[in-house]
Amino acid sequence: MSEKRAEEILQILRKNFTLPKWVSADHNTFETLIITIISQNTSDRNTERAFEKLSKTFPITPEALAKAETSKIEECLKVAGLYRNKARIIREVSKIILEKFGGKFETVLALPFEKARETLMKLPGVGPKTADVLLLFSANKPTIPVDTHVNRVSKRLELAPDDGDYERVRESLQRLFKPEDYLEVHILLILLGRKYCKAIKPLCKPCPVKTLCPSKTE
Ligand code: SF4
Repeated sequence: MSEKRAEEILQILRKNFTLPKWVSADHNTFETLIITIISQNTSDRNTERAFEKLSKTFPITPEALAKAETSKIEECLKVAGLYRNKARIIREVSKIILEKFGGKFETVLALPFEKARETLMKLPGVGPKTADVLLLFSANKPTIPVDTHVNRVSKRLELAPDDGDYERVRESLQRLFKPEDYLEVHILLILLGRKYCKAIKPLCKPCPVKTLCPSKTE
């Protein structure tokens, strides 16, 4: 896979999709962490609704959420699914940030990249994808989070090896694109996956990158 083909794919995606508003929304780093936890396995719309309810009920700070009653957090998150689990994770993460980092989540993100990633992945509910989302969106660190859409689409487009695990897919994409484009690449591949390159029955005919796709079916 050449960088030239990757760049051509990126140009086409830029012309065909608009970046969602929340990308430029001015959330602080702790708010981004909470949004990322809420967003697991749910739609953007439900994430927004749950976060809005939570923000109206509590100040979104480690102090307030560490002390909050779990049942009240659960109530706010119901719309986003897996609310019991997410409420528990939000309380635990808030407590750790309060106790270990003096309530300042920014200090974790300010660490050198690998150290920050390692520290984040020790937090409850934070795996590699969530850690990369936080590093990219909140700290502008050079990483490409690989969610289910990014994984599937980049393999079909042969931007990553077919049998690649999380790290290999991430590294392959990062080699092909420029660090300043990582955020756009992450979002545009998700948008492509949602609209055309669906898990079952991809819509290859109207897909804007079909001329560059080795896996097109029609
Ligand atoms: S042509 Fe088909 S397989 Fe290739 S990216 Fe588009 S939808 Fe996916």
